[in-house]
Amino acid sequence: MITQQISETVHPLLTEQWRLICEKLTQDLGDAAFKSWIKPLELISVNDESIFFNAPSRFMKDWILAHYSENIQKYWKEVLPNLKKIEIGVNASKTSYLEVISEDSAQGVDEIIEGIDDNREDMSAALDSRFTFENFVVGKPNELAYAAALRVAESDTPLFNPLFLYGGVGLGKTHLMHAIAWHIKKTHPTRKVIYLSAEKFMYQFIRALRFKDTVAFKDEFRNVDVLMIDDVQFISGKDTTQEEFFHTFNALVDNNRQVIISADKSPADLEKMEERLKSRLGWGLVADIHPTTYELRLGILQAKADALGLKIPKDVMEFLAFRIISNIRELEGALNRIVAHATLVGRNISIDTTQEVLRDLLRSNDRRITIEDIQKRVCEFYNIKISDLLSSRRLQNIARPRQIAIYLSKLLTSKSLPEIGRKFGGRDHTTVLHSVRKVQEFCQSDREFANDIDILRRSLEA
Ligand code: ADP
Ligand code: MG
Repeated sequence: MITQQISETVHPLLTEQWRLICEKLTQDLGDAAFKSWIKPLELISVNDESIFFNAPSRFMKDWILAHYSENIQKYWKEVLPNLKKIEIGVNASKTSYLEVISEDSAQGVDEIIEGIDDNREDMSAALDSRFTFENFVVGKPNELAYAAALRVAESDTPLFNPLFLYGGVGLGKTHLMHAIAWHIKKTHPTRKVIYLSAEKFMYQFIRALRFKDTVAFKDEFRNVDVLMIDDVQFISGKDTTQEEFFHTFNALVDNNRQVIISADKSPADLEKMEERLKSRLGWGLVADIHPTTYELRLGILQAKADALGLKIPKDVMEFLAFRIISNIRELEGALNRIVAHATLVGRNISIDTTQEVLRDLLRSNDRRITIEDIQKRVCEFYNIKISDLLSSRRLQNIARPRQIAIYLSKLLTSKSLPEIGRKFGGRDHTTVLHSVRKVQEFCQSDREFANDIDILRRSLEA
């Protein structure tokens, strides 16, 4: 029985990991399915091969195992490559009469959906307690958006209306919006702030239409001091929702209430959006968040590690900042994964384990720096010939750059040791490994040497 194995408490990092997986599952399954089936699951314990959850009823357990265990497993496997199964127990204390009728699945579904509908009464979505201004790391790519958000949060009257934040996925739009809401809640507890996704706005609106309480819906939204709608691109192509949104928007702006919008594109580039709405959205301040830079990524990793009280080797942090370039969500996910893995397996975090644990993620973030690029750049830097670099000459002024080029090839590409050896004049993998270790040692003992490597690496990043 599962109950014997579920006594230990779950490590906070695994809880955090589960939270990140839940975000991905929401995206995969949609909000409604997520809330109905995944959210009620309680993470009980994790070991290298299995994960244990509790579900509120046997019916739910069966349903989840039949329909969602593959999705859940897929993401956990990223952290726990040896994972074999998901197990779900039924939480006896929470077992309701659903248990009794669980053979009748149709009735069961209705009951559950009804139960969930209750917590949708609240118009504003929950705010993430970690998404504050204090926890937001500012760098070149996001300084404008950050400054604008802070000004809006601190101002008693609307300065720019609307504030329109846009940028790619995982770059901090939601974080900034929550930060504004937290700030206003703290400084002006009586002001009414509503934050919700455009999807939820649409859901509320359709629901109001269905239950014929659109008057209440309008009142609710038009009586707020600050309205924030996240991911407004979601309502592209949804004509009636756009229409309603447009009216809500105008009513608020006309009454001098602050509106804050986010999207993945600039107002002008939003597709299937009414022209008058697009132009209206661009009236205030439009602030974009650019893709991250190496410095910002490193800064975020450091802040995150500090917040979790973790000591992570500097070279691993730099490696992550250099290699995970897609977005900040993936960067955080990568950090959590290696830490969770190290915690479970009881091994120190090193570049080697990081490469092993993040293999898939690193591949998808591949910058396509080739070994040839690296060889060329190193030769230019040390002013030697490629033919010398690939030769077997052991003169220090050639052997050292060769070791560096090999080291950088290991660091910056996803090639295996034998593959790298082959590209360096047919050296075997132990020679490659030896070079990598040597360079790591020199970096420790020689500041100037470490500096050279840094310059080379950055020049390859550019
Ligand atoms: P978006 O809404 O743009 O898709 P989010 O705001 O959800 O992105 O950010 C994704 C993750 O990255 C969140 O966990 C957020 O806290 C984190 N994050 C984004 N930008 C920063 C930043 N500048 N400093 C610290 N954390 C950040
Ligand atoms: Mg977001």
